[in-house]
Amino acid sequence: MMYCKKCQRLYEGAVCPLCGSARRSSAPTEGDPVRILSLPFFEAAMVEPLLEEAGIPYYVMGWGAAGLGAQSSLRDIMVPYGYHTQAKECILDVFGEDSEIGRALPACEPDAPGEDPAE
Ligand SMILES: [Zn+2]
Repeated sequence: MMYCKKCQRLYEGAVCPLCGSARRSSAPTEGDPVRILSLPFFEAAMVEPLLEEAGIPYYVMGWGAAGLGAQSSLRDIMVPYGYHTQAKECILDVFGEDSEIGRALPACEPDAPGEDPAE
């Protein structure tokens, strides 16, 4: 498991799949902000209360100006690495893996058991 500081996401493999580089990567530490979801405004607004209720510290990037344009722009939901597994479980519990939100979660799972492909 590697963490790209530039893209703020976790990945497996030699280079970050987003920026194609490993220059800003290192092993993740507890407090590293991890981008777990990029969602349209309305979906993000459904996820945020879950995290809040679960006591998971999170913050959202990509607010834009409140109002104008906010509904069309993606919002990035960030959680500290130490909470990232918990956050994903909490989201999957509610929305399920086959939901649009479940599918938006990054594929790389730390210590995930082998998953059966649905189809
Ligand atoms: Zn990257």
